[in-house]
Order: sequence, then C-alpha cells, then structure tokens
Amino acid sequence: MAEVEINPILCENNQLCFDICSEGVFEVDRGKVVVKNPENCNECFLCVETCPTGAVSID
Ligand code: SF4
Repeated sequence: MAEVEINPILCENNQLCFDICSEGVFEVDRGKVVVKNPENCNECFLCVETCPTGAVSID
C-alpha cells in the first residue's frame, strides 16, 4: 500500500490534491485537506505533480 502524506509545513491547503485525485484518497475535514483513504491510491502521482508547494508525497 502506498504511503500518502501531506507535509503540514509545506501545505497551504489549496486542496488541489483533493480536486485532482479520482480515487478519493483525500478529504476536506473542517476546511482542511487530509489523507483519508490511502489504501485507494493507485500511485498515479497526479497529486504530487499538481501540488504547487511540493507538500504531497507518495512512498
Ligand atoms: S497518486 Fe493519484 S491516486 Fe494516489 S493520492 Fe495521488 S492523485 Fe490520488
């Protein structure tokens, strides 16, 4: 299973990862984007490529 992480120091909560992920890995919880379903990740890396601050990592 992929490890999906949002670096809290780099994240500016623009939620582009949430918008682009078709697998429902991210969720917005009380206005803040979080990793919710990492087991759904298919390692397409779209979120990593889309995040302007480099906050998302897939391992
Ligand atoms: S790598 Fe793809 S499937 Fe995995 S969290 Fe990012 S956008 Fe979603």
